[in-house]
Amino acid sequence: MDFEKEFTAQLDALRDEGNYRIFANLERRTGEFPLATNRQKGAARDVTIWCSNDYLGMGHNKDVIEAMQQTAASCGAGAGGTRNISGTAHHHLLLEQELADLHNKEAALLFTSGYVSNWASLSTLGARLPNAVILSDSLNHASIIEGIRHSKAQKKIWKHNDVEDLDRVLSECPDGSSKIVAFESVYSMDGDIAPIKEICDVADKHGAMTYLDEVHAVGMYGPHGGGVAEREGLMDRVTLIEGTLGKAFGVVGGYVTGSAAMCDFIRSFASGFIFTTALPPAVAAAATSSIQHLKQSEIERAKQRRQVAKLRAALDREGIPHIDNPSHIIPVMIKDPVKCREISDILMDDYGIYVQPINFPTVPKGTERLRFTPGPMHTDADIEHLVSALSALWSQCALSRAVA
Ligand SMILES: *Cc1c(COP(=O)(O)O)cnc(C)c1O
Repeated sequence: MDFEKEFTAQLDALRDEGNYRIFANLERRTGEFPLATNRQKGAARDVTIWCSNDYLGMGHNKDVIEAMQQTAASCGAGAGGTRNISGTAHHHLLLEQELADLHNKEAALLFTSGYVSNWASLSTLGARLPNAVILSDSLNHASIIEGIRHSKAQKKIWKHNDVEDLDRVLSECPDGSSKIVAFESVYSMDGDIAPIKEICDVADKHGAMTYLDEVHAVGMYGPHGGGVAEREGLMDRVTLIEGTLGKAFGVVGGYVTGSAAMCDFIRSFASGFIFTTALPPAVAAAATSSIQHLKQSEIERAKQRRQVAKLRAALDREGIPHIDNPSHIIPVMIKDPVKCREISDILMDDYGIYVQPINFPTVPKGTERLRFTPGPMHTDADIEHLVSALSALWSQCALSRAVA
């Protein structure tokens, strides 16, 4: 086998499809976000980031940074072990308490990322619950899909956000099976939101547990940033709520919350929890600070919603088609991988605007898009600059406009 040749051939095929991933080379500067330095082709220049998952800029919050610095100074850089073997720091336990409280659950369990929390928890539940069947929304995230795959449990896919289809699929499950309904609240690519109450109703009817990924909603929705389930008064209806500390909370890490017995079960059996070094205590302290801040501050969420509404209105004014949805995510559809990459390149090179093209396999072929996430730190001038750039490109590339 000529391995190098094989690697290169597959990469070339990816390039030919227009799906080869090119990363930016960013240096975010504290206090200046969404402005950042981008280093490319030997030059450094300022760009405005328009696709960050640090939705509220909490990664640059003074108190969050200070919590990280002070804890690193007092406790060191790393945890020093897995949670089981010497790596459990007091800061991890404080954070788990904070997370349980955020979702009004008995307990919480911390992981190194949201990806790992989904992968490890679903693997464990699906593998260890008797005759498990996992019912997965058709647009679930890769980490959910991989967790289900690894569990080797039976998997049934139901139509995206379609409660009737879920009902049908649930009624096909064999008697005596442990049914787990896995879904998300805010879907990050289309920005639509699941009918959580209706899903819980159907799950209850069939005696199924509910597994809700609130990764794109924690910190963002609900009076304390507990997510869409908090906003809708449904947190007690959901068996397990999963979230990340890396998006609106601006740090890194993932978690699940639920009953004490369920969290203890996952803690005791999940390989992806047990056999990996715990997060640095400084990271846990920073995340705790961020959660506490967003529990009592509405300012960031309010400003963010204002800027989202302004960007939508400005896009409408110019006839730039975007998916209308009830969330903070604004997908502008290009529907062609090569054009999507080209437009993103021109925005970066000519306008200092950074938005990553979203291509297959992140989204289905033919639905390639630019995904904008306005935050509280984007100014009105940033929005005007973005929309006038897009408008110019729309004319230049002869893309069709929406009729008002
Ligand atoms: C980003 C994401 C995750 C993974 O979270 P990380 O903390 O980034 O690993 C899980 N689920 C969904 C829906 C996501 O978009």
